[in-house]
Amino acid sequence: MRCPYCTYEDSRVLDSRTGEDGAVVRRRRECPKCHRRFTTYERAVEVKLMVVKKDGRREPFDAAKIVEGMAKACEKRPIAREQLEAAVGEIERMLRDELRDEVTATEIGQVVMRKLREMDEVAYVRFASVYKEFGDAESFLREIEGLAKGEADQEVNPGPAPEEAVTTQQ
Ligand SMILES: [Zn+2]
Repeated sequence: MRCPYCTYEDSRVLDSRTGEDGAVVRRRRECPKCHRRFTTYERAVEVKLMVVKKDGRREPFDAAKIVEGMAKACEKRPIAREQLEAAVGEIERMLRDELRDEVTATEIGQVVMRKLREMDEVAYVRFASVYKEFGDAESFLREIEGLAKGEADQEVNPGPAPEEAVTTQQ
């Protein structure tokens, strides 16, 4: 902790006390350079990890939702739900270790793809094909939901019906 008086980069802790509710630690410090004393209060900050969606809206990181999306890509594949939960746990830990408070839905999609690839090629391909087309987590979750139900919302316009093949005999 930098000294607030002389801005020396370090300080010595003389005394450390936890507040009554245990949420705050008070430290009495001394600057080894100018020898002045000061007090710091340390409290844990609960960082809310937010997901920035493609349209710019933000919503709290929801591990359960991501597990759900992966589970749909893993339908009928030999992957236990615990594996997916562990994978999403790792993703969340990684983001928190980086002290991130925001992550884009696109980034999450990419990390999820990497994880699935390690686990199961088929699940990866399912996920990736949907994901790459839509490029955001929201749509791929919806789409995968559709796939799982066996009704992939294929609004494919068949175009004009082909002309009847006519055999003309001459
Ligand atoms: Zn100082």
